[in-house]
Amino acid sequence: MGAGRSKEVLPSRVLSLTLINLTMLWSPEALLISLVACGFAITSYFVYSSGQLFVQIPNTPGFTKHAVKAAFEATRLTASTFLIKEYDDIYSEHPHIYAKVVPEANTVLLIDSGCGGASNNSDIQITSLREFIEKVGLSDNEGKPLNEDGKMKYVVVTTHCHYDHILGIEHFKDSPILASSHSPAFLKDSQLPENSLCNALGIKMPSYTPTLVPHLHVISSPEDKDALLDVTVLHTPGHTPDELALYDENEMMLYVGDSLYEYEPIIFPKEGSIVEWFTSMDYLISFVQRENRLQHKRGESCKREVLINAGHSTAVKPALNVLLAAKAYMQDVISGEEPVKERMQMRGEETVVYGETGDRFSLRCPERLVLEAARRLGLV
Ligand SMILES: [Zn+2]
Repeated sequence: MGAGRSKEVLPSRVLSLTLINLTMLWSPEALLISLVACGFAITSYFVYSSGQLFVQIPNTPGFTKHAVKAAFEATRLTASTFLIKEYDDIYSEHPHIYAKVVPEANTVLLIDSGCGGASNNSDIQITSLREFIEKVGLSDNEGKPLNEDGKMKYVVVTTHCHYDHILGIEHFKDSPILASSHSPAFLKDSQLPENSLCNALGIKMPSYTPTLVPHLHVISSPEDKDALLDVTVLHTPGHTPDELALYDENEMMLYVGDSLYEYEPIIFPKEGSIVEWFTSMDYLISFVQRENRLQHKRGESCKREVLINAGHSTAVKPALNVLLAAKAYMQDVISGEEPVKERMQMRGEETVVYGETGDRFSLRCPERLVLEAARRLGLV
């Protein structure tokens, strides 16, 4: 569950938020700059506005349109990695899906699988994520599909089991599907319909059997276990018990799922834990600081730092800055410095909302989680 939300479960504010983000992106002050970084053939463009970098995401003006109308659009982020965005899904989630294409290992690493292609747009011809990846040419990929005719194998990682990250997964059942081993009970077949929020939405739970992998597991090609993709799984429970992050060491790209993002409300379901979230964020902050230091020690001429990529809204932004700011915001919430703006009942719990549309950070979660964090972290 992320920024957007189904009307049946959660009141949607995502449209107005998106408009605000677009206004920011295309304000008169916005300055378009191209990014050339450290040998990577980065061809995507970034917009500099109000001192912050934004990736130009799909469905913004100027983004490449495809001849075939698909529920997805994609843009290159690095030499190997693309952001695929489900830009008009019926749940207003607009999930981010990331694809790392590694021809040397004959593998495409897919991070999440989106909402399943159900679009508000009745003209959409391609609703299958797999068909999009295998059949739709991208201008950011020399006009070719990401995995033309499915020649390469897939490894799919679910950052967590919420519906907007797994509804496209049945098209990849012939591939390894990896998930966190932190809480196997949370991912039991009998628990998934509830924990994925499919029950709350009244939608069918997709059928898949994840392979649970430990903290620091390094992902390899499905064809050759020795062909490592240099992407490491990091257990980061908090948003959910199975939430994980991925770190691509070569490209210094960190993927954090729904642990945090900007300009759309960070959401904790009733199965989440703000206490665990703080522990996970402290871990990621230390991790990123260490990686940035190592990069600095290598003395490469081009200064690089870890970039953060979330399950919604935020992509290729300086990771340390975003992590520290999100942690500071959450500390303000649990210490009582942020006022509750709204209250509602959700899935049988008193739910509170902090922050407003357009804020860099805002939060919605059961009040119980805030009170528990304040008590256990010694703030009340
Ligand atoms: Zn989620």
